[in-house]
Amino acid sequence: MSTSAPITQDVMTIPRKLPEGGKINLVGLTRDQLREVLIANGTKEKQAKMRVGQIWQWIYQWGVRDFHEMTNLAKAYRAELDEKFEIALPEVVTRQVSEDGTRKYLVRIAGGHEVEVVYIPEDDRGTLCISSQVGCTLTCSFCHTGTQKLVRNLTAGEIIGQLMVARDDLGEWPVPGEPKDETRLLSNIVLMGMGEPLYNFENVRDAMKIAMDPEGISLSRRRITLSTSGVVPEIARTAEEIGCLLAISFHATTDDVRDVLVPINKRWKIDELLQALADYPKVSNSERITFEYVMLDGVNDSDEDAHRLIEHIKRYNIPAKINLIPFNEWPGAPYKRSSNNRIRAFANIIYQAGYASPIRKTRGEDIMAACGQLKSATERARKSRKQIEAEAGVAQG
Ligand code: SAH
Ligand code: SF4
Repeated sequence: MSTSAPITQDVMTIPRKLPEGGKINLVGLTRDQLREVLIANGTKEKQAKMRVGQIWQWIYQWGVRDFHEMTNLAKAYRAELDEKFEIALPEVVTRQVSEDGTRKYLVRIAGGHEVEVVYIPEDDRGTLCISSQVGCTLTCSFCHTGTQKLVRNLTAGEIIGQLMVARDDLGEWPVPGEPKDETRLLSNIVLMGMGEPLYNFENVRDAMKIAMDPEGISLSRRRITLSTSGVVPEIARTAEEIGCLLAISFHATTDDVRDVLVPINKRWKIDELLQALADYPKVSNSERITFEYVMLDGVNDSDEDAHRLIEHIKRYNIPAKINLIPFNEWPGAPYKRSSNNRIRAFANIIYQAGYASPIRKTRGEDIMAACGQLKSATERARKSRKQIEAEAGVAQG
């Protein structure tokens, strides 16, 4: 693990406006919910549909935060909106940029909790890895987030808010009147940060609907990937109600090993999971399912494992690609990363069987931004802020 200092670390000194004074935050409301709050606060029912459309576009298409800038609304109406509502995002506490261009944001949400958001630029795309919960109820033995108790679910506003703060930082909101830039810096979303998205289904769904809405951020559902440890009953619901791409944290080829690595397997066994995966593409009309497979030295990385993995996928005829993830170690982790040779041999067996088997490149290692490292990063950030405060002689309660 790299110990080198991050290239940049900004500690924001001017906090973004937090929810205050009983104003209702409009970020994260569905179109129906937005309509309801507008009507409840005096918007005429006959006009509500049009107002929803206008306000929606200002917030999600143009990234406007001030009602006074919503120039197609009457001045008096803008003032009324400003009195009752706000457009509030999570507060960015720190922003780190890796030497490979990966950016990691620590954002603070209501209650003072913190989650991490990671932006990964690549040649042909830019992917934002967002969190769905603070902590996780599950206890996958190789995952650092899994050692942290669930603190709470994120709201839909906090989930889509992560994307909006990243767009702010990338300077990627279009300007009215100018042509839209089709080659986006932020073109893809993966729900692979902290938490199990399918244990926060409604909020994740509502946030993704906002991301996909054609009159706003308008990301294609094929550019959104939800990763789950295998909450089987919610997989069908994901197909029906979200329709995004699915990734599954598979990680083991026998129930005995998967029970240990991904303990939700005790509740829903490999065969039940595979059946749900086989049904997914038909219902969601989507393409291949990504099997995520973390490479743990001597635990799940044998040739037999590779062959068994292929058998499982073939038995259920699942259109699949297998993403091999070199284990990212964290302090006190009970596993070691498989050797590069072992990972390549494993990948080769899968490739020979006719499936894509990319080995995930570890990104942002110098800023602890890699999968499964997010808790330690939070702790480090907390410590460094305390240190900074101590050094500056700031008395802090
Ligand atoms: N809870 C969801 C999504 C978050 S985890 C899930 O489990 O799918 C995102 C991915 O990172 C998962 O595939 C997870 O298994 C993997 N991961 C977690 N800890 C890791 C580690 N230390 N090294 C490599 N990958 C890890
Ligand atoms: Fe939770 Fe996913 Fe980590 Fe398992 S791998 S503990 S489900 S975040």
